Amino acid sequence: MSARLDPAVWPLTARVDDGLLSVGGVRVDDLAREFGTPAYVLDEDDFRTRCRAWRGAFDGGDVYYAGKSFLCLAVVRWLAEEGLSLDVCSGGELAVARAAGFPADRLIFHGNNKSVAELEAALDFGVARVAVDSFEEIDRLGRVAAAVRRRQRVLLRVTPGVEAHTHEYVSTGQEDQKFGFSLASGAALKAVSRVLATPSLALAGVHAHIGSQIFDTAGYGLALHRMVGLLRAVRDAHGVELAELDLGGGLGIAYTSQDAPLAVAEAATRLRVLLDKECSEVSLPVPRLAVEPGRAISGPTTVTLYEVGTVKHLPGLRTYVSVDGGMSDNIRPALYGARYTAALVSRHSDAAQQVVTVVGKHCESGDVVVHDVALPADLRPGDLVAVPASGAYHRSMANNYNHVPRPPVVAVRDGTARVIVRRETLEDLLRLDVEP
Ligand SMILES: *Cc1c(COP(=O)(O)O)cnc(C)c1O
Repeated sequence: MSARLDPAVWPLTARVDDGLLSVGGVRVDDLAREFGTPAYVLDEDDFRTRCRAWRGAFDGGDVYYAGKSFLCLAVVRWLAEEGLSLDVCSGGELAVARAAGFPADRLIFHGNNKSVAELEAALDFGVARVAVDSFEEIDRLGRVAAAVRRRQRVLLRVTPGVEAHTHEYVSTGQEDQKFGFSLASGAALKAVSRVLATPSLALAGVHAHIGSQIFDTAGYGLALHRMVGLLRAVRDAHGVELAELDLGGGLGIAYTSQDAPLAVAEAATRLRVLLDKECSEVSLPVPRLAVEPGRAISGPTTVTLYEVGTVKHLPGLRTYVSVDGGMSDNIRPALYGARYTAALVSRHSDAAQQVVTVVGKHCESGDVVVHDVALPADLRPGDLVAVPASGAYHRSMANNYNHVPRPPVVAVRDGTARVIVRRETLEDLLRLDVEP
């Protein structure tokens, strides 16, 4: 691998010395020896630096880290220390926040089908906000809150009719998706009335999440414009000025050098200017702005370390490099056709580069780790290969297909490595089986 690492793709502290990668001051050959492969190597400084950048950019607002992108006790503690808030969307994610002692007044609870048990757990913990997603849920949460004599603050999840598809937006009248209340159909305004008429609920504001891996502010701008329109309609219909506007997550990251993500400070400035303008045009007080970055914080912090097991040349067709993980530790290529890059990180090579496909060890031909990536032609068993930008939706979507144990997450910082999620063992895999 070359000594140059694209800083947009690799973690903050990644360095290469004579072909050998280190992250957080720890060499990957040492990591492989101590913790085995595959392993997720997480740059703690990078994670904390991104938390601070988001907090600084949305100063005076709220930054909810989207826990679904990657959550564990250590991450929850970092978020608490860095002053971030947290978005959870299941009883399980809530339990992690609770176990780590995260302040409940910095939590929002999302999801389109929260169970009564989940809502009860959320209220028992005292979550600051619940994003309500359906008429049934307004009534359900209303009953759960009334039963414990609470007035629960809620945000209304709205479908603003803006859908982001990475580089393009689809703006539709009939929003065909399972989440939220449609703005165009009038369901959102009806839901506002329903919440306002529920004594055990307090309507704090409105929420929209337009998609993921977004590279500009155009879609957010359109959503913002429509949401301010809703705030205005709420004022006109009910005389109520809602205090919070949550624009969700979705800011994109660089998986390869082809991707050009927007800097968070720039995105924040554009959105603030737009919000001020839109609100002043309709004489509304500017609501408190909230955002929910997941991928943009956790994604770039992590590289997955794999060991090469076989190299198969199919003359005239392709070279397959098999590594010791695959779709169990990264389902995204199979699920979304996601594109990545990879590099040889355990030694220097003078060999010419050749385009290969890096594949996993699972019993599916769609088990691809990286499509068409240039790697040295002398790649051989025992080499370590790293895939950057693997911190979001990798470990959190990891699975046990083929009874492959899930890899550990090793946090590195200042020359020290620390396991924050341990590797699964074969005993773990057998633990749920009941003897016949
Ligand atoms: C998934 C999701 C996010 C985070 O999305 P990213 O693309 O990881 O930033 C934020 N808010 C909600 C409601 C989501 O569903």
